Amino acid sequence: MNSRPPPSSSSIDVVLPSVQLKGIAGSPGVAVGPALVVGDVHTAYVRRYIHTAHIAAELERVKKAVEAAQVALREVSRSLSGAHDQKPILEAYLMMLADPLLHEEIERRIRDDKKCAEWALAGAAEAIASRFPAASHDTDSYISERKHDVEFVADRLLRALTGAPERLIPKLDHPSIVVARDLSPADTAGMVKEPALGFVTEVGSRTSHTSIMARALEIPAVVGADGALAAVRTGDTIIVDGLRGLVTIHPSEDQLADATARAARHLAFAKGLLAKRDMPCTTACGVRISLKANVELPAEATLAIEHGAEGIGLYRTEFLYVDRATLPSEEEQYDVYRAIVQTVSPRPVVLRTFDIGGDKFASSFQLPAEMNPALGLRAVRLALRRPEVFLVQLRAMVRASAHGDVRVMVPMVASVDEMRAVRTLLERAQADVDERGQARAKDMPLGMMVEVPSAAVMADMFTEDAEFFSLGTNDLVQYSLAIDRTSRPLADLASAVHPSILRLVQGVVRAAANGNIPVAVCGAVASDILAVPLLVGLGLRELSMEAAAIPEIKAALARVTIDQCEKIAARALDARTVTEVDEVLAEELGTLFQDLLSGTGE
Ligand code: PEP
Ligand code: MG
Repeated sequence: MNSRPPPSSSSIDVVLPSVQLKGIAGSPGVAVGPALVVGDVHTAYVRRYIHTAHIAAELERVKKAVEAAQVALREVSRSLSGAHDQKPILEAYLMMLADPLLHEEIERRIRDDKKCAEWALAGAAEAIASRFPAASHDTDSYISERKHDVEFVADRLLRALTGAPERLIPKLDHPSIVVARDLSPADTAGMVKEPALGFVTEVGSRTSHTSIMARALEIPAVVGADGALAAVRTGDTIIVDGLRGLVTIHPSEDQLADATARAARHLAFAKGLLAKRDMPCTTACGVRISLKANVELPAEATLAIEHGAEGIGLYRTEFLYVDRATLPSEEEQYDVYRAIVQTVSPRPVVLRTFDIGGDKFASSFQLPAEMNPALGLRAVRLALRRPEVFLVQLRAMVRASAHGDVRVMVPMVASVDEMRAVRTLLERAQADVDERGQARAKDMPLGMMVEVPSAAVMADMFTEDAEFFSLGTNDLVQYSLAIDRTSRPLADLASAVHPSILRLVQGVVRAAANGNIPVAVCGAVASDILAVPLLVGLGLRELSMEAAAIPEIKAALARVTIDQCEKIAARALDARTVTEVDEVLAEELGTLFQDLLSGTGE
């Protein structure tokens, strides 16, 4: 054998002490099982020392990988129209692939250190990335974006070298708990077919993509578990406690017994709640509240109905644009929208036009680098700058309206003229569909997300141009409190019950009532058991949330009257701080909802 293995720790047959990692409770439930550590492509390749005779062959492998990555990027670049604003980024990536500094660093590691191509490449990329000034990736998005670009290029090269697929998670041949730095949308999408027992990720928050997906798929998850990749090895038995946000590695017999019992209690409790799925949601005094589902994947439409959703209140169509080199065609989008509408019909479906940019998969849409992507070319702003792409989506939505109750919702609206511009395009899409002789509904309501403070403050001015409102509290919090929704250090400050948010919500609800249009909440606060009575007290009668939360929200609302909710809202609106609001909620509802809050019925 020519290769000399790097020093490795041999397996030790001793009882290892149990270790606990504290993360964020991303998705409820408790899972026990063997870990499958997928890390990421940067850590998942084999590190080999090579023989001198193989140096030339390894250098050739790097050359071939660079060529393959160049071909792939050029293909993407060619698929974009002439003056496309993503082209400069692709050109920059192509230049980076040819960067002599990168190649020198790789070659030195292969020639002098005798490392295999993958190892040399990863080391070289790391060395280059580390030359950027130190910055916490949460606080300096410009630097982290640039580092991300280097990582992106290195990632492409590593994939070309190892033949790694876009999905990091291999097909699960036995039930495992997936431990990863982060999960790509492609990975979580794959989980619909091959469910994992649980997820542990090093990054993420309660509102991050992985958590949302895990809750939708009802897979226990702990996210933001710092150090998980270093602490867990594939095959280790671990406990994922998605109720408490804890990961236990090498659990003791007692911890295992406790986890198994809690898992069973959680399942029994959730099953009991689910049994009432066909009962309408009403408060204790008999007022109807409409509960709908937020979905990201078409397959979730079925899950939504199974959980008793009265329709889809938010379909995040950006999922269709993710992890792919080319934009989805009208036909492909039409097929997906129609399938969802047919699954859910006669219940309504709100299709949100693509919300790309900000923290939403920017790299796959190849957006230009911006200092503050959340404040940049995102959502409706992007759609209006790329009408040819937007019209493709609108036509697909218009055609889907032939199959059921379809409503279109626009994200990130900040000004009335944006709604007017969208309406003009929607009318054009309708005319195009008519011209082709294709079927469509006569009317398709056009509404908007209220998630930018400017729109919330002057909501009354939007009611002539928007046919419904849906409060996107995730972004409303981000923009009102000036807290990046992906920031870990500030996550505990980003409260949707901040008194300022409550005032904005109250104003929007009143504007909708005066303008005679419906209003809902579709941000994550709609599935927060303690916050929901407060929302109802502020006048909301429609909530849209991840499907899995519907049964417990229904159970919670059945225990409170509108009078109680209004009293809670009045007390909360009087509060000066989030702590005071939290105290009001705990005081009024803590005991009443104790069993729902624990997730195990205790
Ligand atoms: C929101 O911002 O609250 C919302 C529901 O939309 P998203 O989380 O997709 O930005
Ligand atoms: Mg939003």
